[in-house]
Amino acid sequence: MAERSIPLVDQRTLDARPRPPFVPENPEPPMGLLLDRRARPLHDLRISVTDRCNFRCSYCMPKEVYDKSYRFLPHSDLLSFEEITRLARIFIGHGVRKLRLTGGEPLLRKNIEELVAQLAQLRTLEDEPLDITLTTNASLLARKAQALKDAGLNRVTVSLDALDDAVFRRMNDVDFPAAEVLHGIDVAHAVGLAPLKVNMVVKRGTNDQQIVPMARYFREHYDGRVVLRFIEYMDVGATNGWRMDDVVPSQEVMQRLNAAYPLRELPPSAPGETARRHAYADGRGEVGFISSVTQAFCGDCNRARLSTEGQLYLCLFATQGHDLRALLRGGYDDAQISAAIAHIWHSREDRYSELRGQGSAPAHEGRRVEMSYIGG
Ligand code: SAM
Repeated sequence: MAERSIPLVDQRTLDARPRPPFVPENPEPPMGLLLDRRARPLHDLRISVTDRCNFRCSYCMPKEVYDKSYRFLPHSDLLSFEEITRLARIFIGHGVRKLRLTGGEPLLRKNIEELVAQLAQLRTLEDEPLDITLTTNASLLARKAQALKDAGLNRVTVSLDALDDAVFRRMNDVDFPAAEVLHGIDVAHAVGLAPLKVNMVVKRGTNDQQIVPMARYFREHYDGRVVLRFIEYMDVGATNGWRMDDVVPSQEVMQRLNAAYPLRELPPSAPGETARRHAYADGRGEVGFISSVTQAFCGDCNRARLSTEGQLYLCLFATQGHDLRALLRGGYDDAQISAAIAHIWHSREDRYSELRGQGSAPAHEGRRVEMSYIGG
């Protein structure tokens, strides 16, 4: 398939050499609120701390591409913890309240708890603690949960695509057992990294038979305090050979679930929330549906993404980043970087999923940035 043979390193190199962002000459101080061209505020910053992962899920980092010869970024290209914290502080000035560490697999970044500790020192403009969370495959979570909690992490989202061990091992493609992920969830829950969310990407014919067993498991454990969310398999990146036939629309997942456990819809808990929430009618917790393919939620997307090497992306489906690292390492002060970010966000128009839904997405197939690079 043509898509699979695209050398990712080229794509990354493309992204690694964009022009440094425009820096306004007379930077205005941040006002605590930035609106893009569609009046969407910036609230949420996702930070990819590594492009490496120890799983090879075929829909994200397929083995044929991310093999032994694949060149991951050298450490010097990565933003340091100090650079990440500096940028986070600048983003807070623009109204960011929530930080999500992701990757690649964020727990592979050495001493990640030190970064969490630095970020946990920051305060929102209302002088409140930030909401700091992390998305992980949980392979190292049992070992790290207590240190992360002590450092100031509030909660975690764990990715788990199946309970059935054979299905899960096939999906992660490194023979990693489901039981170890469940153990990681237990430990995270026990140390108080709560509320804990579990994300399941549903792929037709691969793990859709696991929808009800997953729901049953998380209903019956943790007293409804772990929220399972079903994610539609998305056409991110260019390496997973995505086909619409492989997507199980949330509507169908909901119907299958409803037949086993009746559901009732809940109101969103926050603007810009990615998941539609439903409660089990019998009161045993809730589930979420993330329907970025069939029901795009670009309209209130308030998320920005910082890649492993400090490129700012305004959309998961973007092709081009904005090189904040060039400013960090180029001697610009905080006021200048803040003004550059404001300029970037003010020009934001991205709404790829909506356009794709209308059949009018820009034709840039093959050049989209990979999720492991900008973070899920
Ligand atoms: N390694 C961490 C993890 O496993 O959670 C963080 C990074 S991973 C890229 C973040 C999330 O993106 C995971 O839940 C993963 O399942 C999801 N993901 C990756 N590729 C996807 C795709 N094509 N469609 C939907 N979700 C995807």
